[in-house]
Amino acid sequence: MMAIDMHIHVGTYRNWTPWVVEFFRKTNPYFYEHFSQETDPDRILAYLNSQGVKKGVILAEYAPKATGVVTNEYVIDFCKDHKDLIPFGSICLYEERDILEQARHAFETLGVKGFKMLPSYAHFYPNEERFFPFYEYIQSKNLPVMFHTGTSIFKGSLVKYADPLFFDEIADAFPDLKIILEHGGRPFWYNKVAWLLTRHKNIYVGIAGIPTRHLPEYFPHIDLYQDRFIFGSDWPGVPHIKPLIEKVLALPLSDTIKEKILYKNAETILGAD
Ligand SMILES: [Zn+2]
Repeated sequence: MMAIDMHIHVGTYRNWTPWVVEFFRKTNPYFYEHFSQETDPDRILAYLNSQGVKKGVILAEYAPKATGVVTNEYVIDFCKDHKDLIPFGSICLYEERDILEQARHAFETLGVKGFKMLPSYAHFYPNEERFFPFYEYIQSKNLPVMFHTGTSIFKGSLVKYADPLFFDEIADAFPDLKIILEHGGRPFWYNKVAWLLTRHKNIYVGIAGIPTRHLPEYFPHIDLYQDRFIFGSDWPGVPHIKPLIEKVLALPLSDTIKEKILYKNAETILGAD
């Protein structure tokens, strides 16, 4: 079974803040040695395939105060001519350009397939009204949006912005917007995310960074909401991806559910073949 990894970061030391580069050096020596100086899509794809991953979502980010900057243009260029690398854009809050205009440009001109937003890294509340036209727009285009929720180890991130309950309001106002809550509100807000699943049919959980073996404990109704859990690794923030896939396969869940978590739910969300 080949997985889809919904959560991959690309870039070199030039993209990341020094403490992130240092984190990669310690946590993922393989990445540090092979990809941190120079990287290219063919090598990343070969690595993903070697880990049991057939497709990967490549994430942009604008978080100069916390982790760094990987522009939409960089991600689009990286994924160009590689249908198994799927570009997700982001919105830059450090420039004057209107948020909706940035979203339109990212989708209509550049061709992103979804968005990733980092409230705790870029210091904003996701339910601020200035984002509502953006949510309206991407809902109308059926583009998924992923948010980092819960804690982070990186300097410059502020957890007050990462509370999953902000998404109660957003999911309610935009009931057809597919909202992926990455990290499930780790580590002290899992119960809030578990509740959001029951309350809103458009809330999904990205399992990147959640200790896999505890998933059924944190989300006791995982079988009931089996269409809403999505595999992601957060590579290169973890040493390798394959062990994470193996941990999902070892869960006390049916094969049907494991397939959904590892790739079928992602296919549905991405509209992929
Ligand atoms: Zn990440």
